[in-house]
Amino acid sequence: MTTLQTLHLRAIEADLNMAAQLLRNGQLVGFPTETVYGLGADARDGTAVANIYDAKGRPSFNPLIVHVPDVASAKRYVQWNNTAQILADRFWPGALTLVLPLRDGHGLSSLVTAGLNTLAIRVPNHGTALRLLRLADAPIAAPSANPSGRISPTTAQHVLDGLAGKIAAVLDDGPCKVGLESTILGLTPDVALLRHGGVESEQIEDALGITLTQSTPEKITAPGQMESHYAPKAHVRLDASNIEAGEVLLGFGTMNCDLNLSEHGDLIEAAANLFDHLHALDKTGKPIAVAPIPQIGLGRAINDRLRRAAAPRG
Ligand code: AMP
Ligand code: MG
Repeated sequence: MTTLQTLHLRAIEADLNMAAQLLRNGQLVGFPTETVYGLGADARDGTAVANIYDAKGRPSFNPLIVHVPDVASAKRYVQWNNTAQILADRFWPGALTLVLPLRDGHGLSSLVTAGLNTLAIRVPNHGTALRLLRLADAPIAAPSANPSGRISPTTAQHVLDGLAGKIAAVLDDGPCKVGLESTILGLTPDVALLRHGGVESEQIEDALGITLTQSTPEKITAPGQMESHYAPKAHVRLDASNIEAGEVLLGFGTMNCDLNLSEHGDLIEAAANLFDHLHALDKTGKPIAVAPIPQIGLGRAINDRLRRAAAPRG
């Protein structure tokens, strides 16, 4: 990976414009929210989203939260409903993430949702974040701006300590109000609390006039680990050095195959293509053989996802 000269930008007009332009050009930009500093990328750009995982050194693909400046923007990407409107009226901008079905023609990279047909979306309660989102005029995917396994960053310096050289810029607007993570609420269409966070479950119950079904602790702490992970219906065979009768081949590098994750053997490109290609091959109804993917860099996250796809299902 090439080393970047990470820009240290401030919350002034010229720098905000620069940060927005970088995002629109598919670059990664750290920016403040009311919870922690996020690592932002244009959610429509598969390569940019793959670079989030690469920069963080994340060993697996979890769906990411997309940040937008207002409800009107959210409606471009998800199927909105009355419950979402009530919650947005009361809690947005704020630490409540809503998981809603994707809208047709949403235009987002499938890596953002890790291949799911639902999207986690929120409007952050932070003036600088909102200005940046408006200027970028793009849906911004953003997990915390720290290397995987390290403490979440609450200052721009934390972001630089972990990611300098790997991201285009960090937008510095002082320390975050060390808040909690956002609460994640599924509305697909049943209302389900997927993660506890800044907005209390009692407040949500009050807003909706319902009692939330108690999710198991497992589901709450690891929403991405459960049924919320995309798995192809087809049988998947890994490290395939040959193709057997009736199979379709998902390739990597120069080879004859049905679909290629990256002819050039580029792991960023492969990550960006992974879920689209799996979906497309799954549609053939045939078993899927997958060529070996090197266990380096993003290859680890790709292999993690492929292993889950290949695991026997109960
Ligand atoms: P983070 O961005 O690190 O705060 O984490 C985002 C969380 O949202 C992860 O735990 C994801 O599993 C969860 N999440 C994102 N999208 C979805 C979705 N479509 N369905 C269920 N959970 C989601
Ligand atoms: Mg994190």
